[in-house]
Amino acid sequence: MTTLDCAAARGMLLACAEKIIESKPLLTEIDSRIGDGDHGIGMAVGMQKAKDRLEKMEACSNVYELFQEMGKTMLMSMGGASGVIFGTMFLGGTKGKEPLPALGCRDFAGLMADSLEAVRIRGKASAGDKTMVDALEPAVRAMETYGGDDFVEMLSLAEAAAAEGVEATKNLIAKFGRAKSLMERALGFQDAGATSVWIIFGAMRAYLAAMS
Ligand code: ADP
Ligand code: MG
Repeated sequence: MTTLDCAAARGMLLACAEKIIESKPLLTEIDSRIGDGDHGIGMAVGMQKAKDRLEKMEACSNVYELFQEMGKTMLMSMGGASGVIFGTMFLGGTKGKEPLPALGCRDFAGLMADSLEAVRIRGKASAGDKTMVDALEPAVRAMETYGGDDFVEMLSLAEAAAAEGVEATKNLIAKFGRAKSLMERALGFQDAGATSVWIIFGAMRAYLAAMS
């Protein structure tokens, strides 16, 4: 699969929403260990609203608009740090982009790289701070480095990089959220938001793999 048109993008984003909703118990459990336990609930609420919004949208001719609506809906419907952060992960990169009816691998890697930048500006977290950036940054770098034109191949690399990033958060001390006050007591536990990023890339890969 070498192009992501509106129909494929919509299906892919709906798959992300469904997978996160399905993973609510897992995310809740992970956030309960070192956070306040609300990450799964917040993400599921935002993703359900985003799913409703995408399903109701008229046929669209600009792929970026789907990402924009997804992010906006999450920003508006979710509370906490993750509403802003995960809303921006979908919305941030669309700013200033000329409308496109379909994206190639380079366009998609560029979109997510700009979203990462927006997340970093909004949340002020860097790699190593035990946040979702620890999964998003390696996933984006893997897509930027990828030289081919196959979405499934590119997303498989991103998913694997995100998984490594999640694993790495176990050895980090948090600079944000409730886990921060736990200091080294948070060692050994993975970050909830990073886990969501990995789930999102996995859902994108699985959806497009099943389509092609
Ligand atoms: P809250 O922290 O408000 O309870 P959630 O539990 O839903 O929100 O989300 C927590 C997750 O959000 C963390 O696991 C982390 O990955 C991510 N996060 C928190 N603050 C930031 C930040 N400043 N930048 C990036 N990600 C962040
Ligand atoms: Mg929380």
